[in-house]
Amino acid sequence: MYDIAIIGGGPAGLTAAVYARRAGRSVLVLEKDGFGGQITHAARVENFPGFFSISGAELGDRLLEQAMALGAEAELEEASGLRRDAAGMTVLCASGASFAARAVILATGAKPRALGLAREEELTGSGVSYCALCDGAFYKGRPVVVVGGGSSALQDALLLSETCERVYLIHRRDRFRGERALEEALRKRPNVELVLEAQVRELLGGEALQGVVVERRGARRALAVDGLFVAVGAQPDNAAFAEQLRLDGAGYAAAGEDCTTPTAGVFVAGDCRAKAVRQLTTAVSDGAVAALAAVGYLDGLSAPRPVS
Ligand code: NAP
Repeated sequence: MYDIAIIGGGPAGLTAAVYARRAGRSVLVLEKDGFGGQITHAARVENFPGFFSISGAELGDRLLEQAMALGAEAELEEASGLRRDAAGMTVLCASGASFAARAVILATGAKPRALGLAREEELTGSGVSYCALCDGAFYKGRPVVVVGGGSSALQDALLLSETCERVYLIHRRDRFRGERALEEALRKRPNVELVLEAQVRELLGGEALQGVVVERRGARRALAVDGLFVAVGAQPDNAAFAEQLRLDGAGYAAAGEDCTTPTAGVFVAGDCRAKAVRQLTTAVSDGAVAALAAVGYLDGLSAPRPVS
């Protein structure tokens, strides 16, 4: 029986592990893909205090290393549900494994959102990608499209412009919502074309992507590209825990800044929580708050308050 099981090994979950271990609690972190979470796909992180510039992968490694050095345990397991029992909770895993804990912190993050185009799923891995850092090297010297208007899309376009022949960045609005510094850097790249107020309507090609049809102000244009990098945000991964949480319309866990949920002993942290600003800094902030709330709960100091 662990004191605290943390579901999700991204920045929120690993920060929770650091705080819970420093409070002397036994901690298990469960992660289904790779420790470090979404940030490991960011080529450079330049807005995390204390680091002028660090790769997302290195930041993820450092977070994991710190949690492990403090004595947290970690397993690569996909948590698929939670069951309350007399002693606390049992975390059920897709593999059939289960882990008992007195409190649980859900830090499940979010996964990339798809565009919802015909053949998008079929062409994923054959021209369509959701990770420029992972797949960008396959498109060296070739033309590609990036879709999205946030910092992820801007950063992906910057990264790809270093090796790809041409990068079209397509965004549905007349301005980007991502960081100004990234946009300014992108505007200086000669092989980048910004296509605003436009949307990808169709994917072209046979077994592999050969182009996209883009619609702008009612006019359609085909772009011959070998790669389509989708960077249109993320969606939460909370469905397996819907019974313990209150989910909003978009599937995010409704929980206040104190990270408590309607279920005693269950806390929520990071991008899977309903909130206005989803940043690395707010994820690690949640991790600290949720861990301290869980420790308080175990100490009997504070009862979780229902979310209104
Ligand atoms: P985001 O900020 O939510 O942006 C998603 C973008 O995709 C928006 O521009 C949105 O358009 C567009 N979009 C959504 N659905 C679409 C659809 N179906 N078709 C076309 N476009 C669509 O997501 P993000 O860029 O992944 O960033 C997530 C968070 O991580 C943000 O807080 C961001 O600042 C942070 N981040 C930080 C760094 C860093 O370097 N530290 C790097 C990457 C991301 P609208 O503008 O019209 O809504």
